[in-house]
Amino acid sequence: MYYQSSRGQSTAVKAAEAIVMGIAPDGGLFVPDFIPRLKNDFMTAMSQMTYQQRAEAILTLYLTDFTADEIDACVNKAYNKEKFDHSSIAPLVKVEEGFFSLELWHGPTSAFKDMALQLLPHLMTISAAKNQEKREIVILVATSGDTGKAALAGFQDVPGTRIVVFYPQDGVSKVQQRQMTTQEGNNVYVAAVIGNFDDAQSGVKKIFADPAFNERLNDHNMKLSSANSINWGRLVPQIVYYVSAYLDLVAGKHINAGDKINIVVPTGNFGNILAAYYASMMGVPVHKLICASNANNVLTDFIQTGTYDRNRQFAKTISPSMDILISSNLERLLYEMTGHDHERICQWMKDLQQQGKYDVDEETRLKIPDKFWAGYCSDDETRATIKSVWEQKQYLLDPHTAVAVNVWDKYRQTTGDNTVTVIASTASPFKFGQSVAEALLDIADGDEFELLQKLADLTGKDIPAAIEELKTKEIRHKTECSGDNMPETLMSLLQLPD
Ligand SMILES: *Cc1c(COP(=O)(O)O)cnc(C)c1O
Repeated sequence: MYYQSSRGQSTAVKAAEAIVMGIAPDGGLFVPDFIPRLKNDFMTAMSQMTYQQRAEAILTLYLTDFTADEIDACVNKAYNKEKFDHSSIAPLVKVEEGFFSLELWHGPTSAFKDMALQLLPHLMTISAAKNQEKREIVILVATSGDTGKAALAGFQDVPGTRIVVFYPQDGVSKVQQRQMTTQEGNNVYVAAVIGNFDDAQSGVKKIFADPAFNERLNDHNMKLSSANSINWGRLVPQIVYYVSAYLDLVAGKHINAGDKINIVVPTGNFGNILAAYYASMMGVPVHKLICASNANNVLTDFIQTGTYDRNRQFAKTISPSMDILISSNLERLLYEMTGHDHERICQWMKDLQQQGKYDVDEETRLKIPDKFWAGYCSDDETRATIKSVWEQKQYLLDPHTAVAVNVWDKYRQTTGDNTVTVIASTASPFKFGQSVAEALLDIADGDEFELLQKLADLTGKDIPAAIEELKTKEIRHKTECSGDNMPETLMSLLQLPD
């Protein structure tokens, strides 16, 4: 299988090259040149498999330049007992009849990013070797919180790599910040950007697009790559758990093989929901993909109107990993929805860059609601949802997952559709314990770690060990910079002369 650029101005590459490059030279995203179909007997065979075997089966369809042994090694290094605290890796938990929570947060950093970022470093080092890459790979990440820590944990001390993470100083929770600033490892660098996530992401995109800067790194035998959700090596592991969840529903006799389901995804950069879309294109029977946003509801408007307009107030919410106004992965959806029309995509992305907005054509606008439904909710609604789901169903939601549940409620009220639904649960409630405690206990403030303990006492759930130990860990990373100073900061973190 080959990977094209969504903008059509770069040559097609194999998976290993797409993974090391991260983004295509023309600024587009790598997209598979076709989407493999899951035949019925293949689905049946997979239903007997473990999560790891399902992952291998699906990765094999996309990473056709990897050997079976290579894929097996990557999967086993990523999804194992040391890294995940649940033997099913991504367990599907029944909350009530017709409502299933796909818990994607049993990995080392307690958020769904681990599902991809435990695997990516291994895909990356094998890819680099395949490409005869001799330079050191410098992973450059802009994070809204969860990606940063998950990438640091994934790449920590992986030979031949370094990792540099920029996070928005005021855009992450205290636990998230501590997770990053305490990160250990000899190849890890962390800096706080004075600004919001889009400032950090724009800074990183500029560095990637700056030939002179990349030339300087090359002189030091280094090469930039990305672990952001635009990297194909992050998307493909995410397809696995949607297929796996469907197989689990059939195996548990909650649906019959072939029945359609709804999938609700709390969305920011559009990566996780895009993986669900790929799963449906591969043949997983999906009625609607429900795109849930917080007050940064640019995607809700887009799906409803066909106009993407980022010219709006950026809102800081209690679901910070979704505080995003530029959903980069949407470009891949447009690629599929337009039947791979590079020209239209180039025009829209140019409009986005120059005017902060674009309008898709009539045909595309009408096509999107066939598959997608979108809604959003406020922080008050998020807190109310956490409280009511806990009180009525004894299921504890983190604020991101609560956004999804709230929007799902709105969907059912609007449409009356009661199709069996899988909600992507993207973080442990303890990762955002402050907001969850506020919602349940009506506490407005307090020491975050004391609140986590109160939450544990109230709910009878355990604080994940990796979060508990943050209390006493040493802060190792203290660098701060402005969005404009990110290139210089990167050079000095890497200890390279100007
Ligand atoms: C990253 C993240 C999201 C958003 O996922 P996208 O792939 O960016 O849409 C939602 N919830 C949590 C907890 C996250 O970490």
